[in-house]
Amino acid sequence: MYPQEQLVVASVLISAVGYWLFHKNRDAAFKRRWWPWFIIMGDLLVLGIVWRMHLPMPVYGIMIPSVLAVTMANLRNVKFCNACGRTILMKSTSSGQIAYCPYCGTRLID
Ligand SMILES: [Zn+2]
Repeated sequence: MYPQEQLVVASVLISAVGYWLFHKNRDAAFKRRWWPWFIIMGDLLVLGIVWRMHLPMPVYGIMIPSVLAVTMANLRNVKFCNACGRTILMKSTSSGQIAYCPYCGTRLID
């Protein structure tokens, strides 16, 4: 299997597993524990496959900081509601981060 095919298969598998573990699952404690590992391992897997494509070095100079920025955003902006267990993408508003779960109304920020 070529690296390009591996990248497609890995991306589909990561997305499917991530959807099941972090959107269908309602266990907030589980999500909080495993979300950073899932994000970091998924990104390392994708970077490893891309590395095998032997692309020109400037591509990696752009790609690696971009992946790091997305990783940091995923780690900082995704929260899990203690009450309903839903995954919440924290969007910045003019007044800062959202303070209440959009699904059940529980206060998220103390
Ligand atoms: Zn909630």
